[in-house]
Order: sequence, then C-alpha cells, then structure tokens
Amino acid sequence: MAQYTPMIQQYLAIKRDYPDTFLFFRLGDFYELFFEDAVVASRELEITLTGREGGGEEKIPMCGVPHHSADAYIAELLKKGYKVAVCEQVEDPKEAKGVVRREVTRVITPGTMMEGKWLSDKENNYMVAIAQAEGSMGVAACDMSTGEMYVTSLIGRREAALDEAMQYHPKELVLSGWAGELKSDVPVTYIEDTELDGLAVDRQYGNDARELDLAMRKAVNTLLHYIGVTQKRSLSHMLLIKRYDAKQYLQMDGFSRRNLELTETIRDKSKKGSLLWLLDRTETAMGGRLLRRWIERPLVNKSELEARLDAVSYLKGDMLLRSDLRNCLDQVYDLERLAGRISYGNANARDLVQLRHSLETIPMLKRLLLETDAPVLKELAAGMDECADIVTYLQAALVDDPPISVREGGLIRTGYDEYLDKLHTASREGKTWIAQLEQTEREATGIRSLKVGYNKVFGYYIEVSRANLANVPAGRYERKQTLANAERFITPELKEKEALILEAEEKLIELEYQLFVQIRNEVAAHIPRLQSLAERVAAIDVLQAFATVSDERGYVRPELVTTGECVITDGRHPVVEAVLEREKYVANDVHMNQTDRQILLITGPNMAGKSTYMRQIALLVVMAQIGCFVPAKAARLSLVDQIFTRIGAADDLASGHSTFMVEMLETRHALQKATAQSLILLDEIGRGTSTYDGMALAQAVIEYIRQKIGAKTLFSTHYHELTGLEESLTGVVNVNARCEERAGKLLFLHKIEPGRADKSYGIHVAELAEMPQQVIERAREILAGLESAGTTAGDVQMSLETLWSAPVAAVREEPKSLLSPEEEQVLSELRELDLNQT
Ligand code: ADP
Repeated sequence: MAQYTPMIQQYLAIKRDYPDTFLFFRLGDFYELFFEDAVVASRELEITLTGREGGGEEKIPMCGVPHHSADAYIAELLKKGYKVAVCEQVEDPKEAKGVVRREVTRVITPGTMMEGKWLSDKENNYMVAIAQAEGSMGVAACDMSTGEMYVTSLIGRREAALDEAMQYHPKELVLSGWAGELKSDVPVTYIEDTELDGLAVDRQYGNDARELDLAMRKAVNTLLHYIGVTQKRSLSHMLLIKRYDAKQYLQMDGFSRRNLELTETIRDKSKKGSLLWLLDRTETAMGGRLLRRWIERPLVNKSELEARLDAVSYLKGDMLLRSDLRNCLDQVYDLERLAGRISYGNANARDLVQLRHSLETIPMLKRLLLETDAPVLKELAAGMDECADIVTYLQAALVDDPPISVREGGLIRTGYDEYLDKLHTASREGKTWIAQLEQTEREATGIRSLKVGYNKVFGYYIEVSRANLANVPAGRYERKQTLANAERFITPELKEKEALILEAEEKLIELEYQLFVQIRNEVAAHIPRLQSLAERVAAIDVLQAFATVSDERGYVRPELVTTGECVITDGRHPVVEAVLEREKYVANDVHMNQTDRQILLITGPNMAGKSTYMRQIALLVVMAQIGCFVPAKAARLSLVDQIFTRIGAADDLASGHSTFMVEMLETRHALQKATAQSLILLDEIGRGTSTYDGMALAQAVIEYIRQKIGAKTLFSTHYHELTGLEESLTGVVNVNARCEERAGKLLFLHKIEPGRADKSYGIHVAELAEMPQQVIERAREILAGLESAGTTAGDVQMSLETLWSAPVAAVREEPKSLLSPEEEQVLSELRELDLNQT
C-alpha cells in the first residue's frame, strides 16, 4: 500500500468497501477504473485499457469514461448483471489540501435502477428478498422506480420461496441468513441476519408494518437494508406496502407459467407470441405493467372477477366510449415512475409539466366513466383523485415549455415569485436600456455608424469606426480595445447597467433552481395521491384493453360457477388462433366435471393438436380468472385454485436432470399440491422410460388423481392400452385428436372427438419428418406383416419392447429370435433411433 501515490491509496481504501462492484472513481471530467475493475470493464464495455503510474513498480491498469456519458456505460454493465459504485469528488479541488476528498454517493445495481433506457416502460423492475424466520419464509418484492412493495410469507421450504420470488422476474435477489450459495441467472447479494435493523420496516411503513408477521418483516428489512446501503437517500415514494397471501391468487409454478407462455414464449423468451402480447392493448405504461401483474396473478375470488367482467362487458359494448377512453389514456404519462423520480429528486421541469398535462386529462376520463351505467366503472372513477390542487399549483408555478436543464433558468412562470419577477424586470430594463443606447449615443455624438455590441471577454461595448474617432466624447468614453478599423469603448454607466444585468441573471438562475426544487418537493408531498390515482388509471387501461381484444376477436364472457364443471363450446387457443394466417383455427369443445368426466385421456398422433388443446383449456381458465372474456362460443368455468402442467421438454436440458427425471419431479409436485379445484395437464407422462414402466406409471398417476385428488385432468398419451381405463375407472373419458388418411398421407383435422384413436400414425409422422424413405417403406412392410398376423399396433409395440428390455444373458441363452433375420435388421435400426425425438 505504502508504495502507491496518495490518490491510489485513497482509491484502494474506498474500493475495499465495495469489493463486488465496479468503482467509478471521479477524476476531473472522467470516471476512471483501476486494477482488475479496469481490465474487466475494458473488455465488457469495449473501451481502451491504458496504464497509469501510481507509485508501484508497474503501471496500474486503467480505463475511463467521460462523466457526461457515464450513464450509458453504467447501464451496459447493469444489463450484464454487474453493480456500479459511483465515487464522486466531495470537495472543490481548488480548496482541497492534498488529495481531493471522495466518497461513494450511490451504488447502482440491476434491481435499484430508477431510470434509464433499459428500464422498459411496460415492465416492472423488481428486486426480491427472501428471509427465513420461525419456520416460514418471507418474500418481499419492490420496484424502486414505481415505489411498489409487496410482501408475503409461506410455510415451507426454500424452493417454495424461490418459486414465489421468481414470479416477479426479479432483476436482483437479496437473501438474508441464507446457508450456501444459490445458483441464479440474476445477481444475488447475501446479507447476514446480524446486519439487519429490525425496526427499519416500522420506520418506513409505520402502522402498516404491524400487520406483518416475522418472516415478512425480516424480508422487508432485508430489502430496506440493501436499499439503504446502496442508495444513501430517503425513500419517500415507497410508502405503501401490500401484504398478500399466495392463496388469494391462482397458483402456478415456474414450469407451468413457462409452459403456458403467459408472458413470454418458451422458444425465444420474447413477449411476442405470449398471452401478454395478445392482450396488451394498453395505452399507458402503468396499464402495461398492471396487465402483466394480472396475468401473472390470476384471481380466485368470484366477486372480484365478476366486477372486472362487468366492466369489460360494458366497455366491450361501447366502442365509442372505448376510443374516447383510449384518447384520454394516451395523454397520461407514467405517473408511477414520475412519482419515483420526483421523490428521488431527479425529475426535471419538463417532467412536472408532463405531470400537469397528465392530470389535466383526468377530469375528462372521470366524466366519461361516471356517465356510464356500469357501477364498477363509476366506482373506479369516483375514487379517482383529480389532484386539481396540484394542477393549479403547477400551472401557476412553471412555464408551459421549460428547458430540459433545471440549472439555466427559464422554468418559473411570471407572477409566481415576487423577487424573481423583480430580478427579471431589472434584467429586462437593463437590456432595454442597452438596446436603446445605440440610438441615444448616435444622437449624442452625431456618429451615425456607432454600434453597441457584446462579447464574452469585454461584455458590452460601444464601437466607433476609425473615421469617426474624432467625434468621440473624450471624458465620457473609455477605450477598451483596438481593432483594425475601429475602436471599442465603454462608459461607466454602461458598465453599471451591465453589472446589474449580470447580477440579476446570476441570481435569477440560482433562484429559479431553488424555486424549482421547492416546487418539486411540494409535489413530492402528494406522491401517495398520485400513486393511488395511477392504480385506478392503470386498472381502467387494462379493462379497456380486455374489452378491445374481446370485441375484435369475438370472445365471450365466461360464466363462473362453483359446480366443478368446465364446459366450453367451440373454444380456441387465443394465441395460436391469432397467429394462424390463412388456415383457420379449428374450434373444440370441452366437457369436464367433478364426477363422470374428471379426467380426459387424449390419444392421437403427434402434431394432431393434443397439446394445443390442453394448453387452450388452461389459457381459457387463466383468461377468465384475470377477468377477461374468452375465445369460445360459450364457457362455463369453475374457479381453479392451481394449474399444473407437464407439457413438452423445452427447458429440461438446463436443469441437469434427465427429461424423465424432470417429468417425474413435476408430476410429483402436481400430485402433492393439487386439490379437487385444481387443473392438471399431463402430456405423455411415462414416455421417457420403457413401455411397461411408462404405462404402469401413467396408469398409477391417473388412478391416484381420480381417487385421492379429484382434480380435473387432461392426460395425453401414446399408450393406447390406457384407453381401457375408461371402462374400469369412472370419471376417465377418452377423447382423440382426429386424423384422416388420404392417399397414403395423414391429414390433421385438429378436431378433438369422443372416443379413442384407433390407430397409431407413427409411420406417417415419421414420413412428415422426412425420415429416409427406405426406413418408412420398410416400417410399412413390417407393420403390414404384423397386422396380418392378427396383432394390434399396441401389441406389436409391447412385444418389441419385451424383447428390447430382455436381459442380455437371457438373449444369449436363447439365441433364436422370434423375428425373422430381416425383421431383426430393422429392429436393430429402430433401436438406434431415439423415439423421444419423433
Ligand atoms: P400434438 O400435441 O398432438 O403433437 P400440437 O398441439 O403440438 O400437437 O399441434 C401441432 C400443430 O397443429 C400446432 O403447431 C398448431 O399450429 C396446429 N394446431 C393444433 N390445434 C389446432 C387447431 N385446433 N386448429 C388449427 N391448428 C391447430
């Protein structure tokens, strides 16, 4: 340490406190990074790595970014999951004795971003904490950019808490008292329990904190601690805390959310192609975020849902009203994030003017809603605070079109502050006097070409051309500058006026800034009002979006019942329907109940539409339980408490488990958690193992669901043998995805019909997959041979299976195969094929 220069020593001392961040060290007009930080940052940001003498034997690696463009670089690092500590000079270098004092003023992390380009409008930026207390887990999530804070607690293991945390799609996780290390895609910070201030939550949330249990308190304290350490300033916009119980919502685990493509697609994780994408006809950023929250947390409460449906129903029927509402909403700025910036002190005058404009549209929005006959809409509107006092205040205080900068004046309206007006008058009068000076001096001296000008070095001056110098009044004019063809003069009076103007302008700019900060603080005191208004505006926005989509796409209001039924006439998969261009979607019925039609066993070849049918049912349930209409002719739906899905194998590889293991884990999860009110979708359970094994498991699962759980279940399978369950187990019903064979080709009708599929179309599907023609033809031959021998497709599959799984020793003892040598050949070819890939 001692060998380094004092500045580098200062750097190292500060860096010691921020080991896991990039330390942006302010040096004049640059932020510099040193040592390892510089090496990594130069690579990540693609900026030049240089070196600096620092007293040591070797040059210290260094790279830097200009302070005025630092935000872009910081954003880039945050996007990559890093944290940045900004270290500023906290004293004037001119006054410093020795090294300028420097301090970290803010630590910016992915979860604590307040603004910037990569904060997307229609998405919350959540940071989530998990804490453990007295056998339960607390989960708290906050979005610092909007001020929201949600908290819940759950009994159970860490997995459950993580699952809850992940529902927020957090940008950052903070874990307190966590043993071990968590593998995660997002940055994780660990905090020792001993670091926590047990009363932080009380200070931030006052009485509301009393409602929280210990685990919740601890989770919130963890977040507040982390925010305190990183932000070093007050959180006056985070005043509301929302406590919830996960049981208030339809529960789905991470697998199911992904499988159903609620907010992003499985394939490329894009919003396009998801349910959110389809429904997002919101006009405001707040509405967009609320829609996402609603989709991620469908309700289970009938009366809340009926209220939403009533509103959608009304809006759907009145296109004109909808378009008026949309016009209003379009004028509304992001009130929540604005509130955040106001309280953080980084909102500028334009932001406040935009706030005013937004608020000015509220009375109109309110009137439109109050004039309707829909009690829900009236109620929503009645609770809207127009914030007229804030509007009046802002109208009086700020000009209509202020500059972006708040440090250069031009913000405050005349009449708002008497002293400011006086300064303006003084400045203006001085300027008028100077403007008139040219004329008066020309008259006084008789020099017609006399000019009054201004430059930065000398200020105002009087310019007289060389030819007229003789007429200059000797005592009054004072020579200041000589040019080639002219001389420049000043007069004491001119300088006096100039000083007045300059002084007035300097004061004016400073005063404008002070007044602006006052105004901003004044507005900041009303932030909870703005937030609650924002909530109502967002709700209207989502409801009109539901109505718009429902109207355009011909959705119907679902009838919500508690009979255990799920009866859908001509249902459609909302997203598949929307992306199918020319080809029309084939609508399908669903008829399930709690008694004789509890489990639908779906058979049919691959690509016939089985999983689309299953997903469609789940999506209709989700849509109904967020209060949207559904794509069907009619739908009578019982409220569902949980949805479990095991469809496809899209994201199995990442987990390190085999496909079969993941399948079993997810199925176990469903069997443990599901109730009679749940919906379970199982796609080809058991196919990852040998046929007997798989079939046995599949049947056992079905029996268990029927006898122990009673959940409505859709079960697709290739094991035709299972269709026999229809006879032996009441409640199990066969349906099949119908196909027709025409001219040796398979035609998918996508129609789900009663009964079981009577034929395995595997070879046709293999043909569609462009399997070598030789294999296809050979397979046809074998199949024909086997069928003529009187075996069914299922039996063939099983007898082959028996052979394959026979122990090696047994085969050796009985070398004679049941098959012909030709068949043996194909069998060995088939063994090489991975059946999971078809
Ligand atoms: P399976 O699960 O039986 O293998 P999928 O459900 O994946 O089949 O459906 C295969 C393809 O058929 C889907 O990509 C979809 O585009 C189309 N499809 C499915 N159901 C329908 C339908 N009802 N109407 C029109 N096309 C459909």
